[in-house]
Amino acid sequence: MQCSTIKKDAHRCGRNAIKGGTVCYTHGGASGHVKAKAAVRYEVSQWVIGDAVDDPGEVLLQLLTQSRRRLLMLSEALEKAVEEASIAEAMVGDAFGEFGKVGEYIRGLAMLEAQERDRATNMAAKAVAAGLAERQTRVAEGQGVLLASLLKAILSDPRLMLSESQQAMVIPVMREQMVLAAK
Ligand SMILES: [Zn+2]
Repeated sequence: MQCSTIKKDAHRCGRNAIKGGTVCYTHGGASGHVKAKAAVRYEVSQWVIGDAVDDPGEVLLQLLTQSRRRLLMLSEALEKAVEEASIAEAMVGDAFGEFGKVGEYIRGLAMLEAQERDRATNMAAKAVAAGLAERQTRVAEGQGVLLASLLKAILSDPRLMLSESQQAMVIPVMREQMVLAAK
């Protein structure tokens, strides 16, 4: 994935974007909330549902629901198989000596059920982690908005007697300094 920033000369930046992100390190990828968001995107993209990364929370919920449904199906099948096996065992067990095939089927089902259980647990843990990262992102974005409006209010305070062009320069200068500081 390449950095999507369009530079002043109208060319794309073209450097490698940060993992899970759309910008490179110098074009915003160094900032905390961009990094947090990218980390969540990357985590979700690793779960083979690569294009549904816009709302990680929604994706996680779907995955958990699917996993739970599979788990229910498997345990039902397992229960039924065990029940039928004991009947079969009672009826034909003596005649065939053992009931190898049915036993294998049950072992297989039990293994699948255990795997699905691990998968669901693992996913739930990741969901919590991703939710936390997202919340951090939201807090960081909220603080950014707050800081920007606070800065605007300060700059337009008549006591500072800044001209409009001076006020307008502050944001670009700040951005430039932030990029420099992040290097
Ligand atoms: Zn870039």
